[in-house]
Amino acid sequence: MNQNLYSLLAAHFPQDPAAPCMVLPDDRVWTYGDVERASGRMANLIVALGLKPGDRVAAQVEKTPEALVLYLAAIRAGMVFLPLNPAYQRHELEFFLGDAKPGLFVCRPQQRMLAAELANELATKAGVPHVLELDDHGCGSLIDAATRHADAFATVPRAKDDLAAILYTSGTTGRSKGAMLSHGNLAHNARTLHDYWHFQPGDVMLHMLPTFHVHGLFVACHTTLLNGSAMFFEPKFDAARAMKLLPQSTVFMGVPTYYVRLLLDPVFGRQTCRNIRLFVSGSAPLLKETFDEFKARTGHTILERYGMTEGGMFTSNPYDGERRGGTVGFPLPGTSLQIVGAGGTAIKPGAVGQIQVKGDNVFVGYWGMPEKTKEEFTADGYFRTGDMGSFDAEGYVTISGRSKDLVITGGLNVYPKEIEELIDAMPGVVESAVIGLPHPDFGEAVTAVVVRQKNAAGAALTESGIIAAIKDKLANFKVPKWVYLVDELPRNAMGKVQKNILRKTYSPMTGR
Ligand code: AMP
Repeated sequence: MNQNLYSLLAAHFPQDPAAPCMVLPDDRVWTYGDVERASGRMANLIVALGLKPGDRVAAQVEKTPEALVLYLAAIRAGMVFLPLNPAYQRHELEFFLGDAKPGLFVCRPQQRMLAAELANELATKAGVPHVLELDDHGCGSLIDAATRHADAFATVPRAKDDLAAILYTSGTTGRSKGAMLSHGNLAHNARTLHDYWHFQPGDVMLHMLPTFHVHGLFVACHTTLLNGSAMFFEPKFDAARAMKLLPQSTVFMGVPTYYVRLLLDPVFGRQTCRNIRLFVSGSAPLLKETFDEFKARTGHTILERYGMTEGGMFTSNPYDGERRGGTVGFPLPGTSLQIVGAGGTAIKPGAVGQIQVKGDNVFVGYWGMPEKTKEEFTADGYFRTGDMGSFDAEGYVTISGRSKDLVITGGLNVYPKEIEELIDAMPGVVESAVIGLPHPDFGEAVTAVVVRQKNAAGAALTESGIIAAIKDKLANFKVPKWVYLVDELPRNAMGKVQKNILRKTYSPMTGR
């Protein structure tokens, strides 16, 4: 049977081809018929360029309907889609293209010069035969070339394990790795989330996430397409636009920063959210304070879920049952999640250990890295996520952070979250990040980087004051040796605090 993800999605497109799929900021509408025809044209073009099923199509493009359709065209034609963050610079691009060796690289008009330059270079160096711009202005662009092709395209049959996409991990330590996701992986997660989050006819998604990442491209788009419903397709998150569109939407998916920004608007409240049935948060931890304040202001309980590039979503707070702030809920149906101690030993509820997952959504492996892939799986097929966490007595999972962010001081483990929570609860503190910095005696010294509020309580915060306030609540080895007060924490496009940058920034200061 054909397991091509596009066939699954298309089987759920509305009967009426005039039904809206994407509504744009200028009110233009892409119907499901438009999506079907445009993806057909692009798929025909990709095939005419000489690409064969399994070849990679890399795209470093802005978030537009055409960009989403390019993704659908690529999987329809049996190619492997490789979305790249538009922020990547030349040397990063060279790495990704050299590593994945796509048959086609689709770029942005801003990169016309770079593209022209890269075209020759890449053709020889990285083995990329075709470089095209996506946009519709330049002649010779992909969209322009696709207009010369037929709308009709017979979706290429694919097996469950055939690759649909490669997403490069952000690579905050070491080299970025290409996570290979199969049609079966993506289909499994799309179906699970569609059911678990009760997608229903008439839903309207407010889509403000980037589409080079699992959250925006897979979680938000697949659930909508599988539902055959519409989404406001916005180029990026913008609080003022969200205020305007939320009243016309039923589902919103965001990273925690979006929720924090919405709460900054004093008008944001129950009225703004009157038609929403579901707010989803993920990709980074949602502070309990944000969860609580959101509930108080809007009456809505944000549903927090947890997952990663290497397998989509693993856990979710329940749709119907209690959604618990500070937790990421239960393993999703079809995902087996275990938390183990060092060496894979079983641990008690409440104890922090390494999170491992298994299921049809878990990726196939890292592109071109069979040894690394092997290392990351246990003998019985569990993927080592690199996240630390715990189960509570009722089975809710709490994430304590990445294992590489664990601080080991004097041979003892310190989980940053425990200290961050104490600091965050202090008056005048917006948020904090706890890291380990090299220390001659302890190996690593617990260090807190604290964002203060712009008010009197924030101004009153001092390094010694913060240490004194939490000293009695923590074993001595966990008490920060150093505290830095800052205006904000560095975050990536998905709202994740970049602790690697903090470690780099503050390391030279450790000799003080
Ligand atoms: P990415 O592959 O970019 O989606 O990043 C995945 C990582 O983000 C996970 O391994 C977690 O460390 C983190 N993450 C995702 N969702 C959550 C969440 N709800 N709470 C805490 N961390 C999260």
